Amino acid sequence: MSSLTQYTPRALASALRHHYKKSLGQNFLIDENITRTIAREVERFSPTHILEIGPGAGALSVAVAKLGLPYVLLEKDDHCADFLEDVFADQPHVSILHADALTAELPAFCFDKAARPLLVSNLPYNVASQIYFRFIDGHVPLCGMVLMFQREVAQRFLAEPGTSSYGILSVIGQFYHEIEAVMDVPPNCFEPAPKVMSTVLRFIPRTITQSTEEEARFRAFVHAAFRQRRKTLVNSLNGFEQKDRAAWAEVLQSHGYEPTIRAENLSRKDFLNLIDL
Ligand code: SAM
Repeated sequence: MSSLTQYTPRALASALRHHYKKSLGQNFLIDENITRTIAREVERFSPTHILEIGPGAGALSVAVAKLGLPYVLLEKDDHCADFLEDVFADQPHVSILHADALTAELPAFCFDKAARPLLVSNLPYNVASQIYFRFIDGHVPLCGMVLMFQREVAQRFLAEPGTSSYGILSVIGQFYHEIEAVMDVPPNCFEPAPKVMSTVLRFIPRTITQSTEEEARFRAFVHAAFRQRRKTLVNSLNGFEQKDRAAWAEVLQSHGYEPTIRAENLSRKDFLNLIDL
């Protein structure tokens, strides 16, 4: 593994300087403190296998590869994928999967119940939530995720009821995961520098006791509740599950909630309680 020590994040990013693609959300990490911290967060989960989405020039990958675990780098961009083949040519535990993370067949270890697969990514911002939901919807049994988002999206994942960031992503994200902030990452840690701050989050899976049908019903309920954010819950829910406003007002009352309550004031547990899950 000694050859990996020659690669600094800055040198890796510079090597691809003439191929940066904004359309693929390419902002490459150039700060080794950040890549090391993320690698440490990965290690804390004690994974047996690692998948990285969007490895780019490989800055984070070099730090994580030093853990020596079987490691798949899933990258859509042709230049990055070719470049990574060279960087990791003499690292038999690392393989490059040149594909689109939204549609690619995931490595078999992601579904191996005997393994502890982990997802790490400095996510391409334009498809970050879609990639998160791909893993949720596919019920991929990961032991955890360490993901970097635009700070504004990270704040939505972390938000508490009654705050302006609180919404669908908060309720549904917190249903599936215990979510913790690891650190904020300023624009000058990337090349090219993005316009916004980024935040690294840890996702620890929660045990889901609901059936797949109940899960789908819960998610549909949360979507319906936030459909018209400024309206009261009974107005937003009007028509959901064939119940009109009056019927929903009765449901609220029977569960001890005020009829004027809004979705943004309800916790994940309140949502589950209201539809008896
Ligand atoms: N991991 C690198 C780092 O931290 O320096 C690069 C992160 S950059 C924010 C996002 C990366 O995701 C880019 O390398 C980009 O080409 C890749 N990417 C964008 N869309 C993708 C997709 N649909 N599937 C796989 N990779 C994608």
